[in-house]
Amino acid sequence: MSGLAEVSARIERAARAAGRDPASVSLIAVSKVQPLARIEAVLDEGHRIFGENRVQEAQGRWPALRDRYGAIDLHLIGPLQTNKVKAAMDLFNTIQSVDRTRLAVKIATEAQARGACPDLYIQVNTGEEQQKAGIAPGEADAFIARCREEMDLPVTGVMAIPPADEPPESHFDLLAQIAERNGMSAVSMGMSADFEAAIAYGATSVRVGSALFGARDPSAITGG
Ligand SMILES: *Cc1c(COP(=O)(O)O)cnc(C)c1O
Repeated sequence: MSGLAEVSARIERAARAAGRDPASVSLIAVSKVQPLARIEAVLDEGHRIFGENRVQEAQGRWPALRDRYGAIDLHLIGPLQTNKVKAAMDLFNTIQSVDRTRLAVKIATEAQARGACPDLYIQVNTGEEQQKAGIAPGEADAFIARCREEMDLPVTGVMAIPPADEPPESHFDLLAQIAERNGMSAVSMGMSADFEAAIAYGATSVRVGSALFGARDPSAITGG
């Protein structure tokens, strides 16, 4: 048994406590670096929405799992290099880490060539941390407008990873406001440690790894 039933129950409780429909919050099971057996356990329990943060690692296992389990909704939640755009667009239903013009242009060019594009979320660096990916909050509106109007990209949501050393609430609030004023339907925020707070602030998807699968083995981290 995985932690799926418990995490799902916690999501439902948090949604009800916030006066929200539990069906308005989806659980993205973050399977990066997890052993295959744990992923299969969650698939066997019927879950079909997963998140990975590296294209190469995801390529190594999800095509075979889709063959076995059928349609799986896959989200890319980690940084995307422009040379992996095609591979990411082949594999993922949603790319949550669009954070710079060069990447958006590359996705737009490829989307035009194939006549299709995954859903795109804009990653916002709500804490304006030097080392963290994401567009600065003050630049988000203009970037979103450019992606939509000049590049015709299907930008439908926003994503953020708040600073690890601060209470996340003000960051959740900021991200929800950016979503609201830009007419975004998807707000991806909240991880194992704080997904209930994220739901209180309007998260429509929470990205939960360790609370669901168990702790990640740091020595198992792969490149790519
Ligand atoms: C790893 C990861 C998560 C899940 O983290 P947990 O703390 O294990 O729930 C969520 N979002 C992103 C972007 C991640 O890289």
